[in-house]
Amino acid sequence: MEPRLRVLIVEDEQRLARNIASVLREVANFAVDIATNGEDGLHQARSNPYDLIVLDLMLPKIPGLQVLSTLRGQGIRFPVLILTARGSTEDVVQGLDLGCDDYLTKPFEMAELVARCRALIRRSYDRPDPTIRVSGLEIDPRRRVVQQASKEHILPAMEYRLLEFLAMRAGQVVSKEDILDHLYDFDAERFSNVIEVYISSLRRRFGAELIQTLRGQGYKLLEAAP
Ligand code: CA
Repeated sequence: MEPRLRVLIVEDEQRLARNIASVLREVANFAVDIATNGEDGLHQARSNPYDLIVLDLMLPKIPGLQVLSTLRGQGIRFPVLILTARGSTEDVVQGLDLGCDDYLTKPFEMAELVARCRALIRRSYDRPDPTIRVSGLEIDPRRRVVQQASKEHILPAMEYRLLEFLAMRAGQVVSKEDILDHLYDFDAERFSNVIEVYISSLRRRFGAELIQTLRGQGYKLLEAAP
């Protein structure tokens, strides 16, 4: 899968945070938000539907472990990857006990971070095979290519992200608001009519019946081939 999902980075070293964000955006195609202290991180994590949090432990205002325990205490279940300084095994153990899903020791390779983020998200959606097969489509997130019958489609970025997001939730009604929340970063301009344009384009490519519009509720990608 590796869809256009939304990730929160909570990291007070701003340069590192920006580096991680740009790698996750460019390589993994995620929408990424940054919080530079624990308090903001907690607030953002509570108010947005993230698919993953990358959480530093040594943070101003509220330390990472407390952010984690608060989130878990409130039943927030999305995967959390902890970033930790070298030699703080106790923190890692505590983090794992509090419900973090994975950790990386600083300094780390960006490629490893990306791979771990992808694996965590995949696991959280319970689909170990990264290819999404739904409604006669084969969506390959590594190449961002969609195959239908024997035809390969290379989609523009946002259209791809939208399709992937709907495909991950095939058979469910997804509201326009959910789509906007997931596809755009905070500061991106949000025009809900843009979604309709992408939906029309996807219907032209893959067949009008693929995506249903439920008036006033949202969209649904059919589970079986139309
Ligand atoms: Ca720090």
